[in-house]
Amino acid sequence: MEVVITPPKTLAILAQKAGKSVDELVKTVDTYPFALTHFLRQRVEEGTYSLPALRQFLPDAQELQDVAGFSPDPAGESGKHPIPAILQAYDNRLVILLSYQCLVYCRFCVRKALVGMPEYTITHEQIEQALAFVRTHPEIEDVVLSGGDPLAVPNRRLLPFLRQLLAISHVRAIRIDSRALSTMPKRIDDELLDVLKTDDRFWYHAHMNHPDDLHHPDVLAAARRLRMAGVPVLNQSVILAGVNDDPAVMARLMSECYYHKILPYNLYVLDRVKGGVHFEVAEERIVEICETLSHLPGPAQPVLIFVDGESRKHRAVYDPVTDLHAFLGARNAAHRPMENVSALR
Ligand SMILES: *Cc1c(COP(=O)(O)O)cnc(C)c1O
Repeated sequence: MEVVITPPKTLAILAQKAGKSVDELVKTVDTYPFALTHFLRQRVEEGTYSLPALRQFLPDAQELQDVAGFSPDPAGESGKHPIPAILQAYDNRLVILLSYQCLVYCRFCVRKALVGMPEYTITHEQIEQALAFVRTHPEIEDVVLSGGDPLAVPNRRLLPFLRQLLAISHVRAIRIDSRALSTMPKRIDDELLDVLKTDDRFWYHAHMNHPDDLHHPDVLAAARRLRMAGVPVLNQSVILAGVNDDPAVMARLMSECYYHKILPYNLYVLDRVKGGVHFEVAEERIVEICETLSHLPGPAQPVLIFVDGESRKHRAVYDPVTDLHAFLGARNAAHRPMENVSALR
């Protein structure tokens, strides 16, 4: 797939767009890899992808700071691999990591210490092991495909894998967690759709964080192709300083998703990952955002989530919004597993 644009030309364009020095970007990219798709670069150049949206992928020297409380593995994922290509935090569902490559590198990624690094790869044998693991664990009914980006894997390797997964009858759902929809809509191609179409178990989890992510005819057309193939499209977002930490922007993102049948599912509080500190949003602001979202039509309201140090998700329904302070306070103690967040509602 000749699709991903790397430095230096793209960095020069971004530096100019963001009013930063190319040196700053280059220095950052030496530590944490950078990539942008042709599609997004074109949108940046033609002015349909704003700076707040672009900050998701824009290298920033603040990534190089070491700040207390921000760790390379905030979700404790290193302790959650029964085998290398699987992440498991629950008995009935798990994540298969198909690759550590991405189409774009989100600067706030929880796997920032791993993705795009030459020393981390997922081999064909490890994928075979992952399939064997699911096959021999009949309690696994739901498989999330992640990485890296599962759609960074070319069809010639991805499609045979999907067929093997489909052959496991106790698997009741297969969720493709990918940024392709908004960063490389062409990747949702006929070959892929022909496989997705054959089975009702597929779901697509988009990851859009700014209204610009879906404000493009190619993105909306790709979402429609997925829907027409019988694949529900859900969205996950992260609250990110400088990107969407404005209640009006977040409300627009969620309602635009809903009205385009991309259902808001999860709204994550930032994982406190080393190198992601400049995306942290104050608790007061998070509460304000949720208060605003609570006025949207029901299907446009995502569930607020934080992930604890055991890779488990804690969810809050923010209506009434006052309970959120207790919920977010609990996040600060999240490296201890919590038993009772479901009592908050
Ligand atoms: C997010 C995640 C899942 C899926 O969680 P849901 O609550 O079912 O959406 C499963 N396993 C791991 C390790 C995860 O991080």
